[in-house]
Amino acid sequence: MLEEYEKKRHFEKTPEPFTLGSHESTDKPTFVVQRHDARNLHYDFRLEMDGVLKSWAVPKQPPKETGIKRLAIQTEDHPLSYADFEGEIPEGEYGAGKVEIWDKGTFELQKCEEKEIVVTLHGKELKGNYILIRTKYGKGEKGWLFFKRTD
Ligand code: MN
Repeated sequence: MLEEYEKKRHFEKTPEPFTLGSHESTDKPTFVVQRHDARNLHYDFRLEMDGVLKSWAVPKQPPKETGIKRLAIQTEDHPLSYADFEGEIPEGEYGAGKVEIWDKGTFELQKCEEKEIVVTLHGKELKGNYILIRTKYGKGEKGWLFFKRTD
């Protein structure tokens, strides 16, 4: 599952975590949003599922309120240890730029279907029920919409 993650990175150059030994289990699954000041500033939204961090790149800040929908492009699975990662990915490496944790917390998985994921987030910035839904917009199979549910 983490093959693509490993292939894209040179671990002798990047400070990002290597995947080995990163499958510690936690009581409650973790979510994290990392502000990634790469070539294009974006926010990486990650959910702990099936022993990895399922990941989406959100081009703008994830919505704290209802009524705003963000495109979220699914990216490669990341190791669980990535949820703690902050640092500078060096120039020339994949995703070069500064990574900072923008929000982090636990979540409850309410629904997990092929085309729709519903989670209750317990973060500092993001709280409440959020939906990820597959969309035909965005990059082929990888485009989702991400928004806060009205309830
Ligand atoms: Mn990123």
